[in-house]
Amino acid sequence: MARAKKKNLAKKRSSPAGRIAREQPIAPEPNRLLKVWRRVLERRLRTRLRAPVAVEVHDNTHTMLTFQRHRALWRLRLHHMFLAAPDEVIHALADYVRNGDAEASAQLDKFIERNKIYIRRVSPAQMRKRLRMEPVGQHHDLGRIFERLNERYFRGRIDAAITFGPAPRVTRPRKSIKMGSYSADSRVIRIHPALDQPVVPRYFVEWIVFHEMLHNVYRTRRGEDGRRCIHPPEFLEHEKRFHDYSRAQAWEMENLDLLLRARVSA
Ligand SMILES: [Zn+2]
Repeated sequence: MARAKKKNLAKKRSSPAGRIAREQPIAPEPNRLLKVWRRVLERRLRTRLRAPVAVEVHDNTHTMLTFQRHRALWRLRLHHMFLAAPDEVIHALADYVRNGDAEASAQLDKFIERNKIYIRRVSPAQMRKRLRMEPVGQHHDLGRIFERLNERYFRGRIDAAITFGPAPRVTRPRKSIKMGSYSADSRVIRIHPALDQPVVPRYFVEWIVFHEMLHNVYRTRRGEDGRRCIHPPEFLEHEKRFHDYSRAQAWEMENLDLLLRARVSA
């Protein structure tokens, strides 16, 4: 036992590994490092945009980049994958910010696709936990509508949750209305609460739900012109299979006003 101890001690004294450990430089703290990289990125973008640039770096899971202009200053919010982006990506970023250039946009999409391993993974179930789900309205039960459509049209294969969206904050008359939405991240379909009225026929609500369910089947892709295509031709073809398609369309034409004027309380 004593011998072993002595041997260890001797090893410690003479080991080159031990010396290296003592001389190791102190690692910079992550925040400081991030700040340096952010500054570098700002400088690279500033050179390209020929204007002041302020960059904020985030770890979002869905929106990888947003930007705004405040007078001369460009404010960009970027996923951290952009910190070490090669020059051609920085150039594309500048072109996209400045002109909404479609080619640059496609190039950025490719870069994001190549680097998606750096995007934090949050499961749809984890995301849903943060949301208030209210599928049962006063007049329409979205859960039941969803189940029936899923059985009838999709062999029960659509894995998504459904809820009425929150009551909008603005109560003055609307100029347009987004009747439904689908989030690919959380796999949640949201239906506008204005549809939960006795005057809105069930087949119309069904049509809106059916449309959003199709977003679970067909993902957004880029058309030949490089633009984002949310409703590709096969999506629109598929939508016509809904049993009350023309009736629902006709109802919308005649009653849009009613939906725009609907008062929705929380
Ligand atoms: Zn749509």
